[in-house]
Amino acid sequence: MQNAIMDLPQLGMDPGRTYRLGIMGGTFDPIHNGHLVAAEQAYDDLDLDIVVFMPAGSPAFKQGKRIASGEDRYAMTLLATSDNPHFVASRFEIDREGITYTADTLRMLKDYYPPNVELYFITGADAIAEVVRWYDSASIAENATLVGATRPGYNLDKASAAIDSSGIDFHVIYLEVPALAISSSYLRDRVAKGQSLRYLTPDSVTGYLHKHQLYGAKAGKYGR
Ligand code: ATP
Ligand code: MG
Repeated sequence: MQNAIMDLPQLGMDPGRTYRLGIMGGTFDPIHNGHLVAAEQAYDDLDLDIVVFMPAGSPAFKQGKRIASGEDRYAMTLLATSDNPHFVASRFEIDREGITYTADTLRMLKDYYPPNVELYFITGADAIAEVVRWYDSASIAENATLVGATRPGYNLDKASAAIDSSGIDFHVIYLEVPALAISSSYLRDRVAKGQSLRYLTPDSVTGYLHKHQLYGAKAGKYGR
């Protein structure tokens, strides 16, 4: 855990101002331009100081599913975010044992930072509809503002209805992001079929997943 704490951005030094920390959580298997554009829009519209991308360690809802290792997902997240000065990748969740619950992550971040650091948890329209059912969602509501980004194929109205009827006092900001109808599943499928990922994810990510032969990547047109 020590390593993971070390890679968190330093914020909150000036007690005279408020700092806004964006947290983009996800499995990132692999990370793609839909994640990046949502985080960038949140940074802009909400005046965030920085956005931390946190690949999930062992996500509760992906138990029993095959996912790439935490190290590979973290490495691709690092590559995808490295050229953006206000994005960072963190090992905070992948270095944690057991199932990584968002509620625990946000509580730990809240404890780590001084009170003048506000947390903004960024999700797409599909995930925000689910948050009300996540483990200890009341403490998620207590520790962070939720940011619900539009995502093609998912209805933000449905998500807001789920939030409103939850009986929990969530603070939610809805965010319009440039539409990218892509998902990690779609990218994995394309890799397995030997199709191009260009313009769907940074080329550095494509290079990595071919080099490490993830998702059934084969040598060929787009591989080595
Ligand atoms: P998978 O197909 O494996 O579920 P995914 O593309 O949904 O992958 P996740 O890692 O599950 O990616 O998602 C992380 C977060 O990013 C979620 O909050 C999700 O809603 C959001 N997100 C993913 N893709 C997009 C997109 N194209 N536009 C907006 N938000 C997105
Ligand atoms: Mg998903």
